[in-house]
Amino acid sequence: MDRLARVFSQQDELIALDADFKDEYETFKSLDCLPAEKRQRIQQLTLKLLEDLEQPHDREKCAERSRNLREEGNMVFRGSVSAVFQNWERVLKACRLYTGAVFEAEDAEDELALAFANRGMALQEYGFYSEAYDDCANALDCGYPERLRHKVIMRQAHCAWKLQQIASLEEHLGCLEQLQLNDTFLLQLEDLKEKLQLLKKQAKEQEPQDRGESKALEEIITDPGQRGRYMVAKETISQGQIIFSERASCFVPLEQRLICQQCAASLMSAPIPCSKCHQRVVYCSRKCREAHSAIHRYECAAYRRDLLKLLGVSHLALRLVLTYMPQMLPQLQECTSAQEIWAKITDMAKSTDSAEITPEYLQSLRMVSHLDKASQAELVYHILCANLLQVYLKEHTDFFDQFHSSSASTQEWQLITSALILRSAGQLLANGHVGDALLPVGLEPNEFALLQPDMWQRPRHLKLGQLHNLAHSELITAINLPHLSLCNHACAPSIRTKFDGCSAVNYAAKDILAGEEIFNCYTRDCRNSLKLQRSKPLKEVYKFQCCCDKCTRTNPDQDYLTFHRYRCEKPNCRQIFVPDVELQQNNLSWWLPSNADNSIICTICKERQQFAWYNGFLDLIENCADSTQRQALFKAFEDLDKWLVDHHSLKRNLAEELITAFFVEIDEGALLDELVYEKLAEIIRKQLEGTAAQCGEYSMEYITQMTYLWDLIALERCQSNEKELLHLKGKLEYLASEHREIFLNYYNDFIEQQCK
Ligand SMILES: [Zn+2]
Ligand SMILES: [Zn+2]
Ligand SMILES: [Zn+2]
Ligand SMILES: [Zn+2]
Repeated sequence: MDRLARVFSQQDELIALDADFKDEYETFKSLDCLPAEKRQRIQQLTLKLLEDLEQPHDREKCAERSRNLREEGNMVFRGSVSAVFQNWERVLKACRLYTGAVFEAEDAEDELALAFANRGMALQEYGFYSEAYDDCANALDCGYPERLRHKVIMRQAHCAWKLQQIASLEEHLGCLEQLQLNDTFLLQLEDLKEKLQLLKKQAKEQEPQDRGESKALEEIITDPGQRGRYMVAKETISQGQIIFSERASCFVPLEQRLICQQCAASLMSAPIPCSKCHQRVVYCSRKCREAHSAIHRYECAAYRRDLLKLLGVSHLALRLVLTYMPQMLPQLQECTSAQEIWAKITDMAKSTDSAEITPEYLQSLRMVSHLDKASQAELVYHILCANLLQVYLKEHTDFFDQFHSSSASTQEWQLITSALILRSAGQLLANGHVGDALLPVGLEPNEFALLQPDMWQRPRHLKLGQLHNLAHSELITAINLPHLSLCNHACAPSIRTKFDGCSAVNYAAKDILAGEEIFNCYTRDCRNSLKLQRSKPLKEVYKFQCCCDKCTRTNPDQDYLTFHRYRCEKPNCRQIFVPDVELQQNNLSWWLPSNADNSIICTICKERQQFAWYNGFLDLIENCADSTQRQALFKAFEDLDKWLVDHHSLKRNLAEELITAFFVEIDEGALLDELVYEKLAEIIRKQLEGTAAQCGEYSMEYITQMTYLWDLIALERCQSNEKELLHLKGKLEYLASEHREIFLNYYNDFIEQQCK
């Protein structure tokens, strides 16, 4: 980061933006007009940076690390340490070690082939057939030794049979028949041939699934005046109904979390890394790797330099340009100059076509940008990022080859590319979204959820009592959703967005009347933040002042304050009060270390509250391993009602700490009294009520808290009834599909039976 910052500040001094920002094209045009000496210096600095970011790569070392991990995997797999691990844990642990071997091998192909082959073997044994099938193909691709290939092909055939893929099975059997096989393998071959005949007999015409086009519940209104484009309900939509879904073709993983670059799958059992960019890019399957190759061919060298994580929103901007350029190109082929190309693009963005479905690139071209309102420093930063990426594409990829048949020169296209990256960055600053997903608590960035031996009993089936280990939601993608971006902001949104891989499904968060505008919320909503806390990001990032219903009423903070009601601790007062927001300097969360000085003052008797009980409560939580202190802790929790009214924010906070502390005990195998479990279940249920009130019943917060109750029920540690179970099962709808499958398996494995 330092290196980039240093280069940018040197370049910054060479750039003098005299005129106001006109548009992205004019901005780069003006850089082209700098004195030759300055231009060259800027270029040199960029080239040098790209060179410096190259990372030495020692293939021998990679091979060695991979070999060691594979051998360790072999030992675990063969069971020489099986006394320690149960059978299935042993296999999964081997999968994990082989995955390490696959990653470490990088482009050391011999090792890579062996690592893939061995992982395929372990995955097959565990029951991840589709992943095992892919790994066999990976091993063969990497040049798996000729004399052993029949083993791998046999495994592929077996997986194809398990997956009921008749054509693949037939193909692999045909291939095996050409090879010299020993008796054991000949027997296997005969067996599989019989299985193929059986499959063929069973195979009925797959009924084509009639999905029934869902009709649109929303429409886009274009106001030629100030309002621009916005979304309204076409008809009355009731709470919980899906209003619209959108599948994004552009997203980037956030931070260092390894998710599938194509489908954003976050729970993987057999990630396939790109072997050329130092373990920074993975796919969930060969299919996804193939689908993403058109983009990755231009990004691989940047990942190899670890350049993209330095660039924030500009990385997603680059993806937009890489993705949309081939779609726009046919319309730009004939333009002879950069000026003409830019004019054409601007026209395309302005056009209002009557077509029902507007292609995503056009929707994206139309997104608003506030670069014209950005500070000089902010603008220069984004200009330098766009320039850096353009130079990178020119020097380290064949991106510009696609323009050879067009009328304009490569230099003109370089200018256009810089301008488009800058334009997309500006648009994404105001329109980009972030997607979340549930991940195992405490999962290391280079680990994969489905490979954690402690959690799973078989593929996608958790062990009993493990659901709460998925109670961690994390922001994993920065994603472009141009349709959702058409929703204006309101502090009480009408939708709740579920991220499902790279799709976003939008549910009605409340009943919406026909003709009513549909709002998204760009910040924390009015139940979770004060007006003043929201207005800062709205002003800085989105460049407007909110005048939604909530912000313009007499008491704009009343929703938030519902969760901050106190009963005064002074014996002669004991009145219920809501803190004075202004007096408290707009920050009521005194329990956060950063606000420690901001204690709450009773608005009735004007006395400062001491909250003497607070530290005592934390001490009790800390000691919850000590069974003699548990009753005192529950008593103290009940006593919170003396000071904190209803679903006070702090009460939810403390309940969460209490619940997690008890689950640490449970995970460590502590046996708790029956009464303790019942008490705990009671607190979780209250917690769910509070979470529903503050965050909504469809929120990720609700679902994460819910996992604790599911675990207690599954463990038969608390009573439940059919009504509650069905209510909890109903929440599955709001999970991404890869998580829904796991939750549903858990429900069927451990909870269903208790419905009786
Ligand atoms: Zn994928
Ligand atoms: Zn790569
Ligand atoms: Zn507002
Ligand atoms: Zn008072």
